[in-house]
Amino acid sequence: MSLTDASLAALAAQLSAKSVSSRELTQHFLDRIGTLNSAINAFVTVDAEKSLAEAAAADALIAAGRAVPLTGVPVAHKDIFCAEGWLTTCGSKMLANFVAPYDAHVIQRFKAAGMPSLGKTNMDEFAMGSSNETSYFGPVKNPWDPARVPGGSSGGAAAAIAARMAPAATGTDTGGSIRQPAAFTGITGLKPTYGLVSRYGMIAFASSLDQAGPMAKSAEDCALLLNVMTGFDPNDSTSLERSKEDYTRDLDKPLAGLRVGLPREFFADGLNSDVARAVEAAVSDLRKLGAAAVEVSLANAGLAIPVYYVLAPAEASSNLSRFDGVRYGYRAPEYTDLNDMYAKTRAQGFGAEVKRRILIGAYVLSHGYYDAYYLQAQKIRRLIADDFAQAFKVCDLILGPTTPGTAFRLGEKSGDPVKMYLNDLYTIPANLAGLPGMSLPCGFDSHNLPIGLQLVGNYFSEATMLRVAHQYQRATDWHTRMPTL
Ligand code: GLN
Repeated sequence: MSLTDASLAALAAQLSAKSVSSRELTQHFLDRIGTLNSAINAFVTVDAEKSLAEAAAADALIAAGRAVPLTGVPVAHKDIFCAEGWLTTCGSKMLANFVAPYDAHVIQRFKAAGMPSLGKTNMDEFAMGSSNETSYFGPVKNPWDPARVPGGSSGGAAAAIAARMAPAATGTDTGGSIRQPAAFTGITGLKPTYGLVSRYGMIAFASSLDQAGPMAKSAEDCALLLNVMTGFDPNDSTSLERSKEDYTRDLDKPLAGLRVGLPREFFADGLNSDVARAVEAAVSDLRKLGAAAVEVSLANAGLAIPVYYVLAPAEASSNLSRFDGVRYGYRAPEYTDLNDMYAKTRAQGFGAEVKRRILIGAYVLSHGYYDAYYLQAQKIRRLIADDFAQAFKVCDLILGPTTPGTAFRLGEKSGDPVKMYLNDLYTIPANLAGLPGMSLPCGFDSHNLPIGLQLVGNYFSEATMLRVAHQYQRATDWHTRMPTL
């Protein structure tokens, strides 16, 4: 198998056998980025010198016999993670000149594992979007069809993996931003249980929902990456103090006795027929592997979008108040006084979608509307979590489509925010409940566009989700298909 297509385990094996060096491997992917990025726009920042210096350090660790499992394997980072000395833009004009003075916890962990950075990937502005079209640095193109979006907000990460410009990448998921782009580009991505991966140094969008996770070509690769990313961090007050797990431990366990729950609400109106057919075929594949399917109900899941679009903007309006022209990034060049400076900076520095969220958030938190919107949304958030708790009494894992359709055309939904928001119908409930969710490829539609299968597990059931996904990927080859570029 070529370097371009090899699994992370295979790359690590070649590195430890010294049949390839980290410098050669990193250069290989930098060359692919050099050839492909102008058409795909997956990367905002590439800095070969920095990447190769990190690779040389990894080679020194390998030579000294101090390598850990993925030492020397390069990875791309979503531009939402502060990385010391790297431009960290969050897809915004507001931070277009911001060089981070420290490393996010996630970046620290990859550095500690000796994994060089291939650069920073493009994303929707402040992770608000489902198509990557809100990025200040222009949209990312879907490698399966450049007239279509790769999904968002981790669209650069997803497209980079699909086009094999990176063997793996980090993403973040507030309402679906790992799983939805994974589905649209035919890759595998996992949003862990809330609190498992530290949010320190990850630019905040909606803090009670934001969670970082791995994106890669397979479940096995995601398990290896999750081993690197997770762990308690005293710098994040919601980081969970749990003993370290090996997420690869159950990959090879057969599925006999496993119960998958199919929420009837996820197979209802609005689901594209190609997607429905592929997901149903995946259910019968899992049955052949020994799993049993049961019907479950998530009666309040239909309220997830309205609830999310109250809570996420409320938190965003507060989080984004720090971008005021004083402390970070952009400042309006001309202004009369302090208030005028704030106003002009924010008017010029934020794009339309970010402003919409700030306005909605300020509105739902304001005196007089707080009870009617914010408080009400918090109550329904609890009901959604309770539905999952009920469902997990009769099943080990919930299964359904990741998205209602496949990758849509650039511009197709950008004029209608509600249409755009509806894309996250199936992914948002897991964020509201804090549950882990995953998307993996399960087929193609009539336009040869990838289809995503979603797994949602109970709290801390990542190892089980990865096992189911790995067993499915051993029996199928959807995840090995590559776009022609
Ligand atoms: N598409 C959703 C939004 O626009 C989710 C984004 C995300 O998960 N970061 O808010």
